[in-house]
Amino acid sequence: MVIAEDLFRAALHLTAPWYISSINFAEGERKLDIWVDFPKGSRFPCPECNNLDCEVHDTTTRTWRHLDFFEHQTFLHGRIPRIICPNCGVRQAKVPWARERSGFTLLMEALIVFFAQTMQISQISEKLHIKDKRIWRVVSHYVEEALIKADFSDVKSIGLDETSRRKGHEYITVFADINTGRIIFICKGKDASTLSAFSKDLKEHNGSPEQIKDICCDMSPAFIKGITDEFPLSSIIFDKFHVIKLFNEAVDEVRRLEQLINRILKNTRYIWLKNPSSLTKKQLTELGGLKDMNLKTVRAYNIKLGLQEFWKFEDREAAEAYFKKWYYWATHSKLPAIVKAAKNLKKHWDGIISYFDNRFSNGLLEGLNSMIQSLKANARGYRNDENFITMIYLRQGQLKLVLPT
Ligand SMILES: [Zn+2]
Repeated sequence: MVIAEDLFRAALHLTAPWYISSINFAEGERKLDIWVDFPKGSRFPCPECNNLDCEVHDTTTRTWRHLDFFEHQTFLHGRIPRIICPNCGVRQAKVPWARERSGFTLLMEALIVFFAQTMQISQISEKLHIKDKRIWRVVSHYVEEALIKADFSDVKSIGLDETSRRKGHEYITVFADINTGRIIFICKGKDASTLSAFSKDLKEHNGSPEQIKDICCDMSPAFIKGITDEFPLSSIIFDKFHVIKLFNEAVDEVRRLEQLINRILKNTRYIWLKNPSSLTKKQLTELGGLKDMNLKTVRAYNIKLGLQEFWKFEDREAAEAYFKKWYYWATHSKLPAIVKAAKNLKKHWDGIISYFDNRFSNGLLEGLNSMIQSLKANARGYRNDENFITMIYLRQGQLKLVLPT
């Protein structure tokens, strides 16, 4: 079997003193076992001070799962030496095929992370017959390594949004670089402290709060307070996506109240929340029938469509003049929820009109939001918020993953 041993030694990138001592191919069990070893008297480098010539103190036998070999699960077995270093004392030597404490070879880890970029962890678990907990551990390791090295020195504009893994679960706040769409920071909670956590993280990655010119978010008082405290030089922009979302809640309130006395509105919730262009044919027909009726909900809906026009203006002055007219319309609608929402918008006017000073915000937070929504579709598979956060970074962090080759 000399040829097979040479082949596997090359495939595993083994160099002296490591060699393959035996191979066992269990056809029936679909299993391949490879034993690696080193000759008596071999010396190893110290993992701490790189003293090259350390004697072996003792060994422990370990097993690592390797890449499948033609649908045979492949395991590597070997003795890991503990060495005696004259400078550092007894230390565990590094082996060239695996990370310390990992039960996988480096190549197997590379494959796992490669799969995780497009597949669900549960699918990988099934495909490779590995418990998902172990897969998450590998993926988090490489994501964390890449995050440590991330550089935020050129980030100037931030969009932030809150979300949760599942309804009723703890909130997390996600920070994205608006110019690149890269998610650069995620933390638990949705209060003002998320901004101080972000400020700290920015400093740890060659950045500083002073370099952030704009922050784009919803009208939550907690975010506004956090930005004012931690990023006093940044301007705040309330983006279209969040403004419309807030206004949609008012439209929905009008519909809910009216539905109590007018059953025709039953099951029409989504028709009023979406734009006509994103409705199905059936919904459009339904909307067409309802729009001609004298309904409060129709009035509220038209005011919402009117608000959307605001972002289509070319310049700030024209938009401002339009908003004044819209505001009169909304506040004279005799629809309490709409009046309240319009007044709330006026209170946040500076942040809303700021859009016309840079115009980048539209679409980005909405895009991020829908991406996170699609990740949430697999919420059950995440088991905890840490895994959910790892997955958002992996898919949207534009990480420079350093994978073994
Ligand atoms: Zn040493």
